[in-house]
Amino acid sequence: MQIIWRSLKYLLIVALLTLFTQTGGLIFLACWPILNTINKKVSHKWKRFFFKITAYSAVYLMVNLLLLPPLAKMESGRVPLRIWGNDFLKPHQAFYFSILNHHYVRPEVKASCERVAAQMAEKFPGSKLYYLDANFPFFDGYPLHPHFSHRNGITVDVALYWQETATAKPLDGAPFPLAYGVSEEPHPGEVDMEDKCGNPFRSIEMRWTKKIVDMDKYQLDEERTAAMIKYFLKEKSVCKILLEPHLKSRLGLSKENKVRFQGCKAARHDDHIHVIWCN
Ligand SMILES: [Zn+2]
Repeated sequence: MQIIWRSLKYLLIVALLTLFTQTGGLIFLACWPILNTINKKVSHKWKRFFFKITAYSAVYLMVNLLLLPPLAKMESGRVPLRIWGNDFLKPHQAFYFSILNHHYVRPEVKASCERVAAQMAEKFPGSKLYYLDANFPFFDGYPLHPHFSHRNGITVDVALYWQETATAKPLDGAPFPLAYGVSEEPHPGEVDMEDKCGNPFRSIEMRWTKKIVDMDKYQLDEERTAAMIKYFLKEKSVCKILLEPHLKSRLGLSKENKVRFQGCKAARHDDHIHVIWCN
């Protein structure tokens, strides 16, 4: 019975690591001899746990930071967006978006993002462009949970720009570490797709985040957000940008055919934009 329970536990660990990082489950299996040795040699429960976590993390970081970029380039042609070392383009949360391998894209996508980030920094000194989920390193068609369209290295979610409501002071990033769920909702009189769609699941992240973040303290920085979307639209290889209709109209983008509504079945896009490059 204990063997079955233990096997199920390890199976769950491998499945979760694979779901969130693509490579973590495989690295866990490769680490098995090391973890097994720790199991045998360390009798104290918490010490054993600490040594296993440390050993796994060290191997995970070495493989993902050093070995993965050249392997991904060979298999899928994807490269990682910079985690450190670019002053203008950064992950909104380095652990979740980069250490978990959510930051792989095709080289032309990376070049586009870096150009837009540099243009934003030039127009709005001190502004950084923050990327969210992009793609896993390997295999075209393999989706990045829970975004089923982030699968070929040509999609990147980008944080909107925010400011303090009371002072209009620009914020560095969104007022929540993962950025998802901090939504700029429709003003009275603007089109409200939540009403029109009648799909409560598309706003699930927003409802959850609102319990943690006091959104009355923050509002969309419309000037910087509109400028950022326009810079992406100037990129010839960008095919589509997903944005909620009330923001499309409020930001003066009504005539932009590449700026689209994602449909009622997908999550809302007034907390980030979803940029798609041409295949
Ligand atoms: Zn997306």
